[in-house]
Amino acid sequence: MSGQPVFELDDITVGYGGVSAVRGLSASVREGEILALLGPNGAGKTTTMLAAVGALPLISGSVQALGQPIDSAVEKNARRGVTLVPDSRGVFHRLSVADNLRLAKRKGGTDLGVVYEYFPKLKTMRTRKCGNLSGGEQQMLAMAKALLAGPKVLLIDELSLGLSPIAVQELLPRLRSIADDQRMAVILVEQHIDLALGIADSAVVLHHGRVALSAPAAELRGRRDMVEAAYFGRT
Ligand code: ATP
Repeated sequence: MSGQPVFELDDITVGYGGVSAVRGLSASVREGEILALLGPNGAGKTTTMLAAVGALPLISGSVQALGQPIDSAVEKNARRGVTLVPDSRGVFHRLSVADNLRLAKRKGGTDLGVVYEYFPKLKTMRTRKCGNLSGGEQQMLAMAKALLAGPKVLLIDELSLGLSPIAVQELLPRLRSIADDQRMAVILVEQHIDLALGIADSAVVLHHGRVALSAPAAELRGRRDMVEAAYFGRT
């Protein structure tokens, strides 16, 4: 992996009503790289993701996307290629799979045919109402929708929320190949530590809003002890 970071969080402090929830976090991702953002409940992962897409104002620090500061208008950042897949997934339940995908397509985004190649199951289900999809299928749809918008930086909050371990085992490697093929920079919030480290290039562990550990994923694979120590604030 080479080149400059396409997305950079530089010493960010962010929170709610002037009270910080995340303090002094720095991290960066280059084209085609996946950064896993790990940490226990309440550590500040979602807060970081919201700040990263411009949805929460920074108390201090800066966020740079594709060489420019992130805007406070989320849609503007999205048009520049910074896309968040929220943990609520943003899928229209009453519409069919195909209609959901049609609505998400943007000029310059990945072709629907390619998206169906990544997620062949969605093609076979294209006439199904989304409310009848399983959690894993809805998550595939949410990722497919994000790809159709043509992101350069994709932020995914809890890909695996409510999914079976088998569904997660299927989805994460697919995310890896999509990041490789599309040269997309990805920040992934994930509870399945080992699976996330298995596909990530780097990882940041948050504890109580602070970075407890930041390292290349390769150094952390098989080092559950180190990751757990950071998770539980024993560093
Ligand atoms: P989880 O895994 O449970 O989603 P998280 O790591 O994403 O946790 P955040 O949701 O970022 O954690 O929360 C970080 C801290 O900020 C927590 O102490 C939380 O209570 C607080 N917080 C989150 N949202 C708000 C809000 N809207 N107003 C005030 N405090 C908030």
